Order: sequence, then structure tokens, then C-alpha cells
Amino acid sequence: MDLGIAGKWALVCGASKGLGYGCAKALVEEGVNVVINARGDAALQTAAAQLRAISLDAARASGQKAVEVLAVACDITTPEGRAAVFSVAGGPGTDFDILVTNAGGPPTGDFRDWEREDWIKAVDANMLTPIELIKATVDGMAARGFGRIVNITSSAVKAPIDILGLSNGARTGLTGFVAGLARSGIAAKGVTINNLLPGKFDTDRLASTHQAAASKSGKEVADIRQLQSAQIPAKRFGNAAEFGAICAFLCSQHAGYMTGQNILPDGGLFAGTF
Ligand code: NAD
Repeated sequence: MDLGIAGKWALVCGASKGLGYGCAKALVEEGVNVVINARGDAALQTAAAQLRAISLDAARASGQKAVEVLAVACDITTPEGRAAVFSVAGGPGTDFDILVTNAGGPPTGDFRDWEREDWIKAVDANMLTPIELIKATVDGMAARGFGRIVNITSSAVKAPIDILGLSNGARTGLTGFVAGLARSGIAAKGVTINNLLPGKFDTDRLASTHQAAASKSGKEVADIRQLQSAQIPAKRFGNAAEFGAICAFLCSQHAGYMTGQNILPDGGLFAGTF
């Protein structure tokens, strides 16, 4: 299926690895120009080189032009980081057609140990940063008559995870905000906003939550992996490529009638009819 978004510009945050990289790769494969972001420059440049190679191969096969892949190493949760992605040379400024918000998840722990500063950091990274990125781009999208915003949140919004209280709280705040904004005047201007709620995807982030669960319970990491994957009806963790494919579809021309939704790719783990 042609997703109809070749030539558009996307900002994909937290994209040097994991789910963000999966989304950037799927968009590049559809001919979308991307600005990718992550904090560490070395890993980000490696990811950018891989994306350029993927695009060149696709361009050779199809006879079409390769896409632009611009990389901005910065902390997206800071005002300076956001200014850097919007001012990168050769980029579209704030005139992105597609925005994928993402940043590292908050640490695991017990809420009795968290101070106000820990909550502020989590809310800043996982609620206010996506809202700032949306604020900078959404009106331009509406004025041009096309926009796709996908927030990478977490299955913890739907089914809270005890050791991830900071994530449960901060991301639910974003979800409530997006529910209102998606149904505001922008819906009639071709702009959709949806949230993608990863269940358990095999990335470094999942490995670190397994490590935390192992330390808390005294079990081996391998046993926790085995136990968790056995509880998933699909009997496996998800991978970044399948996550990216869902994101690319949400960003496509075909998904224009789908907004304000929370999509839960989790291999069937959430045991609800809806
Ligand atoms: P990951 O650790 O594999 O990758 C995170 C990416 O974000 C990296 O590129 C990292 O450099 C970048 N990043 C982190 N903090 C950043 C910041 N402040 N500014 C810019 N870039 C930053 O993680 P992942 O598994 O891809 O997870 C992505 C998001 O999805 C996280 O918020 C995570 O909590 C959430 N999530 C993941 C899972 C899962 O199973 N993997 C499940 C639920 C929620």
C-alpha cells in the first residue's frame, strides 16, 4: 500500500534506537524526509547513516529521489533542545507535516522515595515536552491542511505498572490533554493526533525494566523475560519494525479519519474486549 506521504517532513524524537528508530525507519521507507533526534551524538549519527543507506537503496530500486535525513543531538526535554531541532540547517523549521514525540521513560521505583523534583522531571519529559512540540507545529499543519502527530506513550496509561508510577501518572496527563486537542478545530483541518501505547517491545528500555524487576524480586533477568513473554498471548515481545509500521500507517493519508485514539500494540496482553 502506498501511504501517500512521500516528500513530507517528519520530526521523530528519541530516534537513535528502539521504538523511535523503528518509526523513523518506517517513514524513511515511505519516502518521508526526517529530522531525527536523540541525546548521544555517536549513536544518533550511526542511526542517521543507516537511514540514509536504506533510503539510497530504495531510491536506486524505484528510480525516485533519496530522502533527507538530518540528525540533531540534543535533549528534547529542554527548550534549547527543541530550538535546535526547529533551527537545523536544511530542515523545515517548525513546518513539519509529521511529528512523532518520544523521549526516554522515567525511572522505576516506589512513590515513597520520589521527591517533587522526580515528578517534575517525569512530567516535563513525558507530558510537557510533547505538548511543547505539538504547540510549535500544530497550527502550521492546520494552516497547510495536513498533519499527523503520534505520541509514543505506554500501555501503562491503560493498565498501570506498579514500579512505573512516574510513567503511569505523567503519560496519563498527556493522554487527557491530547483527547481534548484532537477533537478541537484542528480535526477539520486535516490534522490527526493519536497515541501509540507500546506493550512489551524488545528494546534497551525493556531490558532496563527487566533489570529493575530482577533487582526488586531477586529473580534472574532471563527468568523474568521468560515469565513475561509467556504471559503475552502472542508468546513473544514486539519488535521496533512492527511498531514503526503502525506509526507509519497512522501518519499516512489513509488514516485521516482516525484521531484522538489510543492504539495498544501489546500482543494481546491487555485482557479487555475494548
Ligand atoms: P530506548 O531506550 O530503546 O530508546 C530511547 C530513545 O530515546 C533513544 O534513542 C534515546 O537516545 C532517546 N532519548 C531518551 N531520552 C531522550 C531525551 N531526553 N531527548 C532526546 N532523546 C532521548 O527506549 P524504547 O524502548 O524505544 O522506548 C521509547 C519510549 O517508549 C520510552 O518513553 C519508553 O518508556 C516507552 N515504552 C517502551 C516500552 C517497551 O517495551 N520498549 C513499553 C512501554 C513504554
